[in-house]
Amino acid sequence: MADQTLNSSQGSELYDVVILGGGPGGLTAALYTARSRLKTLVVEKGIPGGQAATTFHVENYPGFPDGVSGMEISQLMERHATRFGAEITYDEIVGLEDYDQKVKVVRGGEASYRARALIIATGAEQSKLGVPGEEFYRGRGVSYCATCDGAFFRDKVVAVIGGGDSAVEEGDFLTRYASKVIIIHRRDALRAAKVIQERALANPKIEFCWNSTVQEIRGDDFVKSLMLRNVKTAVQSHLPAEGVFVYVGLKPNSEFLKGIIQLDAGGYVIANEEMETNVAGIFAIGDVTKKSLRQIITAAGDGAVAAMAADRYLHE
Ligand code: NAP
Repeated sequence: MADQTLNSSQGSELYDVVILGGGPGGLTAALYTARSRLKTLVVEKGIPGGQAATTFHVENYPGFPDGVSGMEISQLMERHATRFGAEITYDEIVGLEDYDQKVKVVRGGEASYRARALIIATGAEQSKLGVPGEEFYRGRGVSYCATCDGAFFRDKVVAVIGGGDSAVEEGDFLTRYASKVIIIHRRDALRAAKVIQERALANPKIEFCWNSTVQEIRGDDFVKSLMLRNVKTAVQSHLPAEGVFVYVGLKPNSEFLKGIIQLDAGGYVIANEEMETNVAGIFAIGDVTKKSLRQIITAAGDGAVAAMAADRYLHE
């Protein structure tokens, strides 16, 4: 073990389980490992709840028939895990060391953390469009979080890019502020769940711009318009808008696992039914894994399974 990578405080502390990421999956895993009386640490880079915490309204988590804010359910999950003794620390994970040994080391920007088992729950972040102007206007009209930034667009026209659950649900949310929301989708059919589609289609403040992709985001100091291209006719058009909310899918937070853990071509971690990866004692759950349904409930379910599998691994 490279001693210089460990500072003295973490060098002395050995956890049974370190959970990488404090979203719904990580917090559920922490609840279960803590209840199994395993010494548990969650390392979270942002706020507990991760992506879920930035969701305005969650209406498909059972037990909340009226829905619940993403922030509230995240805080409840954090409280639930810590109530049974799980610890949470804030740090960004940059790598793993000694990952094939009995004691594994998680290297963070602030410190290193030692554990006998790891649960990877680092989730995914939103993909970028990758068009000119997107990076320049980030924070000046381009956003990836309607809950965080929607209120800046009161009485303005905003564009939302994408046709999945996030684009359509967040587009609907943005009509609380915006005078008009234009959902720009590259096909002529939405991918979003039917109930989400129905609500958006019935919302008089939402317009759809079908079969269109964004070519460029333009403006002065702030966004003023988008250049669009119709994918069927190749005709280009100019759409005035002061906000652009990008919801074109997810990118797994798995860069630091390359060459260590088996990933698929998209960078998602490959885990089996027990949430085991190809490395003994390392489990993976939630949005960072290859799976068909990425939701709070599936991440939470994965977390429970991984925690029990980790418990068995530690008592083998
Ligand atoms: P998603 O389901 O992957 O949808 C991404 C959308 O962006 C698709 O409509 C896709 O078009 C479009 N797209 C992809 N790349 C593009 C590009 N370069 N230019 C233009 N459009 C592009 O992503 P998501 O909506 O962020 O959802 C991610 C996961 O979270 C999903 O599993 C979703 O079910 C889940 N989620 C669930 C809820 C909920 O349950 N309420 C809410 C939010 C998210 P195509 O349709 O043509 O592929």
